[in-house]
Amino acid sequence: MTTSAITLAEWNASKFSEIRVTQAALDLINKSEILKGDIRAYQASNAFSAVLLTTPALAGSGFYDLPTTTAGGKVSIGINRVSTPEGTFNILAHELGHSMHTYYTAQNQPAVYADYGLFAAEVASNFDQAMVREHLFQKNPDPEFQLAVLEEAFSNFHRYFFVMPTLARFELEVHERVERGESLTADGMNALCAELFKEGYGPEVEFDAERIGSVWMKFSTHLYSNFYVYQYATGISGAHALAHGILRGRGSVTNYLEFLKAGSSLYPLEALKMAGVDLSTPDAVIATFEVLKGYVDRLEAILEARG
Ligand SMILES: [Zn+2]
Repeated sequence: MTTSAITLAEWNASKFSEIRVTQAALDLINKSEILKGDIRAYQASNAFSAVLLTTPALAGSGFYDLPTTTAGGKVSIGINRVSTPEGTFNILAHELGHSMHTYYTAQNQPAVYADYGLFAAEVASNFDQAMVREHLFQKNPDPEFQLAVLEEAFSNFHRYFFVMPTLARFELEVHERVERGESLTADGMNALCAELFKEGYGPEVEFDAERIGSVWMKFSTHLYSNFYVYQYATGISGAHALAHGILRGRGSVTNYLEFLKAGSSLYPLEALKMAGVDLSTPDAVIATFEVLKGYVDRLEAILEARG
């Protein structure tokens, strides 16, 4: 089913009105039934407060706040992000994935279960990104457009499927050093971080130990919340395994929606099993590497055709 395009006038009369959107960004939203549906559902629901704008200092960011028993969740989107097509796709698909999770949970659970853990949350947001990305690949064959979508995909995978799990290994080792009564120094942590990333990148990637060894310093918002970063890797894996299955007719949309409705009435692992992915096994990670391999094949085909 194709719904009508969202017009600039409709956007400007909406909860998103304070966010300046260009026609090019809006055109991109309109290519996706998922994004259009998410935006219209968001508009129609009283379960959410209006979209908040972040401060100029956080202009490049997007955040999603979980609902509480007294207030709906809210999306904060840095004002510059929806003025470019890449930013629109990345931020809106991700944060509105969280938004739909909250929407279904709030509609179906009593207040006591009307939130959800991060372990489940990052599946919902990445699922939306995976579905929108696939939709864009199918709808627009223009090689430049495909390369732009691939660029977004690779940076997303690099950050969440590679950097985050590597930081999780770093975090575990740092905690274990303290448990063994060893000291922590910046030099020691830089060396450890470099060693783990070097192992991850393998011999093909030119390695700047000083720069990459300091990556841990950049993620203070992530690493100062104990054992949290790994959940981005489980999130992106669960999301792509589910989206991949549904797109190829092997997964169930109904089961996925049941997962969005479950909130915290089930443990996240159980809720995800209901959706169709078992994160107690490596299967989802293996399926996500398959998706990544598909992106590399797509890139190679485009570059080959260009000569
Ligand atoms: Zn998120």
